[in-house]
Amino acid sequence: MMQVHLIRSHDFSSEAFEMIQNVLQSKAGLISFIGSKTICGCLRLSVVVEKDFDGYTSDTSWQNFNDFCTRYRNENGLSPEDVVVLLTPEPLFLNWFTAFDDEENNIFIRTDEWEKYLHCSPVYPVAYLVMAQVLQKALYKSTAVKLAHTHDKPEGCINDFCSYKKDITFKLRTADICVPCLEKMVHAGLKPEYITQALSLFDVIRQEMLFRQRYKLNLVPKSIAIRRNKGRKKGIVVELLESKQLVELNPTQSLVYLFFLNHPEGVVLSKLLHTKYREELLYLYANLTNRIKINNTDSLNRYAGIENTIDSLVTDDAILSPIIAKIKKLFIDKIGLESSKVYYIQGEKSMPKKISLDRSMITYEQDVIDYVLGPYHFAQPESNTVLIQ
Ligand SMILES: [Zn+2]
Repeated sequence: MMQVHLIRSHDFSSEAFEMIQNVLQSKAGLISFIGSKTICGCLRLSVVVEKDFDGYTSDTSWQNFNDFCTRYRNENGLSPEDVVVLLTPEPLFLNWFTAFDDEENNIFIRTDEWEKYLHCSPVYPVAYLVMAQVLQKALYKSTAVKLAHTHDKPEGCINDFCSYKKDITFKLRTADICVPCLEKMVHAGLKPEYITQALSLFDVIRQEMLFRQRYKLNLVPKSIAIRRNKGRKKGIVVELLESKQLVELNPTQSLVYLFFLNHPEGVVLSKLLHTKYREELLYLYANLTNRIKINNTDSLNRYAGIENTIDSLVTDDAILSPIIAKIKKLFIDKIGLESSKVYYIQGEKSMPKKISLDRSMITYEQDVIDYVLGPYHFAQPESNTVLIQ
């Protein structure tokens, strides 16, 4: 298992930092990414810019970065094998996107100026560079060896040097490792699990970046159909109609998802204790788990069990939050982070949580309306509304 600790400098936004962690953590494997709360403060440097690349020797211009990473290592008792990655908008030596220390497993990634080269947030290219550098550091150890192996002519490989900065767009559109470089990695003893994890992460990043371009052309799938899971499985299936992907939710996940679909305005989690929400949750959960009407006296005992489940759900954030997180992950696994955003439940802490999907894009199977949602089917007008009309 390789542990990679991510830290940021004070002038890099915490939101982007968190998103980068999410992207890197989206593909689990033997490389684990740990987001650190430590913030690197003063980094003012006098960067030595050398025009000529010949005669490259170890440069000291990122010494401050390295000192900080070393301090972080010592304070947190990291082993020498652990990797520390510092994300910073500060310029690096020779205006590179990335660099690493020759002695210790410390990597530096520049987070800004991406808008000059790409029409997307720095999240994806930076996440890509983190993973690429982790592999390169493990493989080459020193900058001089790395440089000796880079492709001067872009191959769409992580080892492209990209001296012409715009080449980075090509490298990211392919986000691949060329066959000779793959062979070298395997030959050098790099764990195959590291390489497959990196390649599947690169797939996600490439899709996300292509998505951003398509997003501008409004080619984004949005409509969903909600069906009951057939056979023995309980819960619902969310079908993403354009991509034909199915997201299966178990009864508890289905309960949370249907509830938030019912409330486009959003609900603050602490307000779930409110009687009207609790009743709605009870009704939906009884239908999702038992497929029986809750006014049936035979089901009173089971109903008591259901009440316990719902009461712990509305009072204990440690139960509800992981369910919301799991639903999010199920969507991301199917269609990627960027495309999923309209489907999953999101919202800042103590703010209303909601699903942003346009409700006119949802079709409910009749069974779901009849046997699960009943009076809580949001499309049905409330009875007093009917009276007024
Ligand atoms: Zn290559």
